[in-house]
Amino acid sequence: MTCLELKGVSKRYDGAVQDALHALDLEIEEGEILGVVGASGSGKTTLLRLVAGLESPTTGELRIGGLKVAGEGAWVPPEKRGVGLVFQEGALFPHMTVEANVAYGLRGLSKEERMARLHYLLAMVNLRAAALRYPHELSGGERQRIALARALAPNPKMVLLDEPFSNLDPNLRTYLRDQLLAIIRKVNATALVVTHDTQDALVISDRLAILRDGQLVQHGPSRDVYHTPNDAYCARLFGPANALPEAWSGVAVGKGRPWIRPRELELLENEAPGTLEVQVHATQFLGDQLGVLVYPIGVDRAHEEPLLVHEDLYGHLHEVGATRWIRLRSIV
Ligand code: ADP
Ligand code: MG
Repeated sequence: MTCLELKGVSKRYDGAVQDALHALDLEIEEGEILGVVGASGSGKTTLLRLVAGLESPTTGELRIGGLKVAGEGAWVPPEKRGVGLVFQEGALFPHMTVEANVAYGLRGLSKEERMARLHYLLAMVNLRAAALRYPHELSGGERQRIALARALAPNPKMVLLDEPFSNLDPNLRTYLRDQLLAIIRKVNATALVVTHDTQDALVISDRLAILRDGQLVQHGPSRDVYHTPNDAYCARLFGPANALPEAWSGVAVGKGRPWIRPRELELLENEAPGTLEVQVHATQFLGDQLGVLVYPIGVDRAHEEPLLVHEDLYGHLHEVGATRWIRLRSIV
């Protein structure tokens, strides 16, 4: 069943000259995790705030669980939408203990029910021992886990997470990301996760939506979006991507993909069928691999970007100026 449905949703803030979100059509199925990615200012937070009911759309309508919550005179306030929120900062109540923060989402239950659910939730995020601590006595990752427990407390129809990992150091963020994902999967929650980290988005999402300047520019299963981006913007959100070399256009290269990842190319020392002659322009040490920038022979270097090839660091040497041949790896 469809959990969230947006039809022609636009949002223009007061005094703004253009829409922060424009004519958005989007659906999320029950139990699905949708990742929303896009450059800063592309409208990701605006989308979450519209779904949460913290903003109202300028045009269009939103439905949650089939019920119209905004649009054409309909308005369901945030607390009645059955939506849980987790922000970048966690936004826990600083003067309340962990227990009180989570229990905040359980108002309306009997005392016994509340205690039982509270214990279940704290155990779920593995923080029962922290029940009586205050937010400032928790690490950043612990605060985010409590924020998720609080968001999930009332059994919402969906949870919305806005850059939930972005304030954490790299090791912790990967750990927390995997934990949050496991919890969301375990309770089979429907989730909309906004992130500017596309690696995170690929790991956690069933489907991805890409926003650019308030418009939905691509939408689909994560693997499809990664492998067949619609344009340079979509391709490059996920890291470097080469435009298909002119010499290969019209040739049935790799199922006609116009964008080629550096890892999908390889450098040969000798000519072979299906290769293109290039000259090494520069090399970059990338830690676990070597970036080799090359120009096909005869291209106008003043106006064309070089192609980037990611090579095994312990492979061949590629001196600047050397002649090589590139070929598509058969890994894809
Ligand atoms: P993102 O989360 O992708 O960085 P936002 O949704 O925060 O993007 O912002 C989208 C656009 O709307 C930006 O141009 C931003 O400046 C503008 N914007 C966001 N919030 C407001 C607001 N409260 N009032 C006016 N403009 C806003
Ligand atoms: Mg934002």
